Amino acid sequence: MKVIKIGGGCLKNGKAARAIVDLIAQKGLGQIFVLSAFGGITDMLIHGIDTALQNEAGIVPTIEEMTRHHHHIIDELMDVTPHAGQLKEELESFFLTLERYYYGISFTREATPRMKDIIASYGERISAVIISRVLESRGCRSEFLMPDVAGIITDGKYMDATADMTRTRDNLYPLIRSIMDERKMLFIPGFFGKSRDGEITTFGRGGSDYSAAVVAAAVDAEVLEIWKDTEGFMTADPDNIPDCRLIPELTYEEAAELSYTGAGILHARTVEPARKAGIGISIRNTFNPEAPGSMITDHARTTDRVIKSVSYTTDISVLKIFASGVGARYGILSQITDTLARDAVNIKSVVTSQTGISLLLARDDLDRSFNALKQVKPRPFRKMQKVSGVALVSIVGEGLHRNRGIAAKCFTAVSQAKVNIEMISFGTSNAALYFLVKERDLDQTINSLHSTFFD
Ligand code: ASP
Ligand code: MG
Repeated sequence: MKVIKIGGGCLKNGKAARAIVDLIAQKGLGQIFVLSAFGGITDMLIHGIDTALQNEAGIVPTIEEMTRHHHHIIDELMDVTPHAGQLKEELESFFLTLERYYYGISFTREATPRMKDIIASYGERISAVIISRVLESRGCRSEFLMPDVAGIITDGKYMDATADMTRTRDNLYPLIRSIMDERKMLFIPGFFGKSRDGEITTFGRGGSDYSAAVVAAAVDAEVLEIWKDTEGFMTADPDNIPDCRLIPELTYEEAAELSYTGAGILHARTVEPARKAGIGISIRNTFNPEAPGSMITDHARTTDRVIKSVSYTTDISVLKIFASGVGARYGILSQITDTLARDAVNIKSVVTSQTGISLLLARDDLDRSFNALKQVKPRPFRKMQKVSGVALVSIVGEGLHRNRGIAAKCFTAVSQAKVNIEMISFGTSNAALYFLVKERDLDQTINSLHSTFFD
């Protein structure tokens, strides 16, 4: 039994969805599908919250637009008019509920994280019902199951939840096994679960990949396939390096590193549950289903190349904190990290020296972190400096720290591109070396690295 995740990029319109539905009809019996929302719908749902906050009059048009969008997809997917009509009627209750939530937000002028997660979950709820019903109308034995009903249990953190695997497995394993014993295809919305108190909580944007890994681990799937609109992991971002190549095999560690630094192929935490359960992840291109894609396991072949990919993210900023004797006094780092944790700031990385601490943060978190730390009394540091306009570059390959000469090769390539390195982190990961450059130097850096390691 496989768990197959279908991304929003493959469901971006009726035509794309039709190709997917054909593929599922051929190969889907006995498999579990975890679905994203139709492309653009999650954005629309979230945007609807802002609209509701600003102006009640925007709610009806928002709901109408969403309804129209889904009806259009249904019309593309279903040839038999009575079936399409029934499905549209079935979805009415979703749109009505959404409308009421939006009016609640508008009336109270308040959109809590809790409410945002409830609303954001509707894209996946709707896509799972539609795809399941469409397959049913084609004569397939198909069923859908909502994750809150099935019992995907989370830690309750809104918009960035993590699954409680023990509870989730206890709930999912018997339930899903009994459904699958009847040889059906099962559709489960990705992106969310519920807390132990029953609150809807999402796994963060792009979280359906993670949902799929959670389901795969909970039911002991033979493999997790991620169906995307791209080939798989590449040696670089094709936007920067048009002749970059596919990486056929990766280790969990390499995939995790590449997911954190931008590659955008997988939600950053997808690898965790799959690795723990020892389930391989296969990235497949829906528009080229015979292509091999990328396979992620713990025994991926390492090539003599060692380095598999050059990756980067520009969603990065640095908060430099100057304090004398950082390396000789205790408690400074914890005071800083505690303060930021209270403000729910995620620290991506920390580099310290005797005289300072540099925090790597998402761009949007920079000002908030600066302001939060300014309030700390007595102040444990001398001054702070905000650094933006930088990019975090990484070279990724399991075992790079064990292979002599890789760092030298990397920094020679950067220096040949006449680029100055702002900060380096090496040795904390077995599979990646990170450094910061000015954003304006990014293109030269990536080009030079890619030709050094791959030409
Ligand atoms: N629909 C959600 C998002 O757009 C989750 C996902 O597609 O993975 O972020
Ligand atoms: Mg995605």
